[in-house]
Amino acid sequence: MSPLQEQTEQRGLEIFDLVDQNPESIFSKAGFYQRMMAFSMRDEHFKVQMFRFVDVLASLRHSSDIVQHLGEYFADMRNGSVPFLQTGIKAARIFPWLTAPILRWNVSGMARQFIAGRDPEDVMKMLRKRRQEKIGFTVDLLGEAVVSEQEANEYAERCFNLLDGLAERTRGWTDPLGKNTDLFPVVNVSVKISALYSQMNPADPEDAIAHLAPKLRPILRRAREVGAFINFDMESYAHKNTTLELFRTLFTEPEFRDWPHAGIVIQAYLRDAERDLTDLIEWGKQRGTRFTVRLVKGAYWDYEKIKAAQNGWRVPVWLQKPESDANFEACTRILLENESIVTAAFGSHNVRSIAHAQAYAQQLGIDKSRFEFQLLYGMAGPIKRALVEMGYRVREYCPVGELLPGMSYLVRRLLENTSNEGFLKAKFSDKAGPEQLLRDPRSLIGGKRSHSSPKAPSHSRNGQSLDTPPGDTYENSPLVNFVHRQSQEQMRTALREMKAKLGQKYPIVINGQKIWTDHLIDSINPSSPTQVVGAVAEAHVEHAEQAVTAAKKAFEHWCRVSVEHRAGLLERVATIMDRRRFELSALEVFEVGKPWAEADGDIREAIDFLLFYAQQMRLRGLPRLTQHVPGEESYQHYWPRGVALVIAPWNFPMAILTGMVSAAIVTGNTVIMKPAEQSAVCGAMLMEMFEEAGVPPGVLNFLPGKGRVIGQHLVDHKDVHMIAFTGSREVGLRIWKSAGETREGQLELKRVVCEMGGKNAVIIDSDADLDEAIVDSIYSAFGYQGQKCSALSRLIVLEGNYDRVVKRLVEAAASLRVGNPETPGILVGPVIDETAYRRQLEIIETGKKEATLAFQGTVPPEGFFVPPTIFTGVKPDMRVAREEIFGPVLSVMKARDLDEAIRIANDTDYALTAGFFSRSPANIERVKAELVAGNVYINRSCTGAVVGRHPFGGFKMSGGGTKAGGGDYLLQFLVPRVVTENIMRHGFAPDTTPEFRAPFGHSLDS
Ligand SMILES: Cc1cc2nc3c(=O)[nH]c(=O)nc-3n(C[C@H](O)[C@H](O)[C@H](O)COP(=O)(O)OP(=O)(O)OC[C@H]3O[C@@H](n4cnc5c(N)ncnc54)[C@H](O)[C@@H]3O)c2cc1C
Repeated sequence: MSPLQEQTEQRGLEIFDLVDQNPESIFSKAGFYQRMMAFSMRDEHFKVQMFRFVDVLASLRHSSDIVQHLGEYFADMRNGSVPFLQTGIKAARIFPWLTAPILRWNVSGMARQFIAGRDPEDVMKMLRKRRQEKIGFTVDLLGEAVVSEQEANEYAERCFNLLDGLAERTRGWTDPLGKNTDLFPVVNVSVKISALYSQMNPADPEDAIAHLAPKLRPILRRAREVGAFINFDMESYAHKNTTLELFRTLFTEPEFRDWPHAGIVIQAYLRDAERDLTDLIEWGKQRGTRFTVRLVKGAYWDYEKIKAAQNGWRVPVWLQKPESDANFEACTRILLENESIVTAAFGSHNVRSIAHAQAYAQQLGIDKSRFEFQLLYGMAGPIKRALVEMGYRVREYCPVGELLPGMSYLVRRLLENTSNEGFLKAKFSDKAGPEQLLRDPRSLIGGKRSHSSPKAPSHSRNGQSLDTPPGDTYENSPLVNFVHRQSQEQMRTALREMKAKLGQKYPIVINGQKIWTDHLIDSINPSSPTQVVGAVAEAHVEHAEQAVTAAKKAFEHWCRVSVEHRAGLLERVATIMDRRRFELSALEVFEVGKPWAEADGDIREAIDFLLFYAQQMRLRGLPRLTQHVPGEESYQHYWPRGVALVIAPWNFPMAILTGMVSAAIVTGNTVIMKPAEQSAVCGAMLMEMFEEAGVPPGVLNFLPGKGRVIGQHLVDHKDVHMIAFTGSREVGLRIWKSAGETREGQLELKRVVCEMGGKNAVIIDSDADLDEAIVDSIYSAFGYQGQKCSALSRLIVLEGNYDRVVKRLVEAAASLRVGNPETPGILVGPVIDETAYRRQLEIIETGKKEATLAFQGTVPPEGFFVPPTIFTGVKPDMRVAREEIFGPVLSVMKARDLDEAIRIANDTDYALTAGFFSRSPANIERVKAELVAGNVYINRSCTGAVVGRHPFGGFKMSGGGTKAGGGDYLLQFLVPRVVTENIMRHGFAPDTTPEFRAPFGHSLDS
């Protein structure tokens, strides 16, 4: 055993001895909390319901609401596990006036266990008590998620009050150890960066720093004046780099360069931790003044893992608990080895982690008074006392704030205390022995320790048969994670390079031939309308005729090409698209005004369509037995329809176009592709990529031109067999009608896949989590300027929440970043063109007459920027409530109750997307059943459908097709056929018939 391990164990045992001398339960407050925690550890379902109930409780105003929620969360609990609950629920129904206050009191008590006080004055009682116990403090201000600059300013104000209040009330307090006191000011405040700026965007750290630094400087100045210490807490991974950069920027400035009383957090559960720590230390050495690092494992482990899985990102955290523990120890050693420049604060309740730090400090001869242990208020009291007794410096992290904003903090603590992986549970609940608890974590790491972060498994299953959910057989392509500097740089470079080559010309492509015409259509940049992004040759009717002939001819061959070969083509296009990813995103920024992340999302979706449809066609490509019956076999299989006309919109210029084109091609049809005029260059790029991937001549023909001219001509053409259209209701209905007519010489009934708009509604229930509801509603309404067919247009708010929602919503809208989307982090850019611009301004004027203008933003003078606008007091019959606007305009409507809210939401011609924010299980169930929309989203934004995961599309006037990105989408491009053969000869037939068989006839491979 190494001397360090020996020392660690010795220290650990000493701590355990001291802990056992003060055998206070880890769950020190008896009664309700103790019972809740015990049940939570025993029953996972109860735990989930309990924590959700705790989360909603503070927002419930009436006793009847509390009792109703109690029933909804726990009514289905099995009696055996929590018998007292059943009795409680029954009693609550009879005596709500008695039960509700008791419950609230109990949960408040639970919260008070972790929240040290309501405000600076309130917290003093507790701080004085701790002072007697020789425990110091750092105070953290709890708050709601900051959704607006107004709220961010209020947080800053609270920081000043806290600093002043604490300084005033602790005057004369001295350091508990009386040694190295200059390193550890008595007043210590922990701040959360995200609470000081509402528009933090990982893609734009410079903007965040430009906003945060001026807000923080006066706080730091005040802290310095009153002799306090400021610590920057660390939050989710998305904000990590910005927080580090901000810290370095501020504390390199001449004013703060020589100030030693600043600290920052390193989260050892991150794979980046060691590198970040050494970078910080290097910076510290250059700066030449001490600073502090609080080393923790990290509070957002589950969140980071889930986020990474959802977006297909590398998981930033270690996946095995001992890996985090071992990394904590590695960082501990680095910190202590650099004691001359950095003061270490070890934030842990894990006796092994603590003992290792003690042992290593002793090995290096560092005095106990030169570093400290920090522990959370309300947790591990006996460990704190043990450390004090051993002569170490102990500081308690004390959250201060009201109950409602404190709920997310409370739930994090409850999760931590009941985590199967956690030290506290192992020691105090599972009663694990010291030898087990003090093992070297390196010896516990199972399998191989992965040095590069693995990609998050996005699906628990990855089956390959039709019995598996279609989305589950497919793993989505990842989004670009703009949190990484490298991704930001790649995007900036792509934008620069794209800017340099704007203005190129692109030909029509028919039968593999490039054709130039005498007229070019300019595609312009909506942020800067004098800038021509590119120009495409305009196709006329004669080109349309040539394209039909070419497609018809190519079909004769392509319809017999094997599924494998066609799927391979799509996969090659996906690879090329991935290679050109940043370039294509940059093009979208210029051509259609997409903000960075939206542009990347569009390219990602296009790649997903290619790969998903390739895979779906492989699954459906083989003839499949319809039924087992002796003596006869019947196989169903599919034929392509023929020539497909694809007419696409500009708002998802790559994704929707690619989706329709790739579905048509992989199913064996040939295609005439007509992109929207406003995004014709994106169309030309798709053509280029298909050509590079080896699409045979005539299989895909690129025909940019005017919808009224070639579009109409092709829709009516007798040799066009199907039309895949996404766009406006007006054009869609015209196509639908026109395709219904059978023309001279036409041999097929035309199939139309028609996707149109929406007038999407989101309802906010009276118990909704407003932090989430506001952020997601703002994003759904104003993300990409509201130009998504899924965008939120009508926000229906239940009466009880109306005033609060409107206030926060308006403040949040006022804080939005509006501007040229070349700048990262812009949420609202320009609308697509002058026609859209004029129409939207006109509707806004109408809105001003019929409803109340609650908010109108300001916009840059040049470009087609429509100010984000919110109307309140909107009634269902008003124009702003009925017409699709397709721009950044949100109508807010008040509803008496959920019945009325659902009625209003459903009272529209459209049925595309809809959403609901609520924490009532019964209301959620009801809305799932009753909202009339193709895609219903609960407690999240109503935009951002992911291929395979959220098959997308509506009904009523929103569309007449089935879900894009879903398992049955391809069927619309196919004709089903069944071939039946009598296989009985003179009373004899084979015993079995295979479920799948080879395709009929010979398929071609090229
Ligand atoms: C004073 C103080 C301040 C803090 N400040 C912050 C802060 O600013 N930002 C922040 O993010 N956290 C912060 N934390 C840390 C966090 O809130 C938890 O308290 C801490 O991670 C618990 O670790 P532990 O060593 O006490 O317990 P342990 O039980 O030893 O460790 C639990 C931790 O291990 C990690 N973990 C759990 N499961 C796994 C797994 N399967 N694989 C890998 N790792 C896993 C998680 O980080 C989990 O929290 C702070 C903690 C303290 C005590």
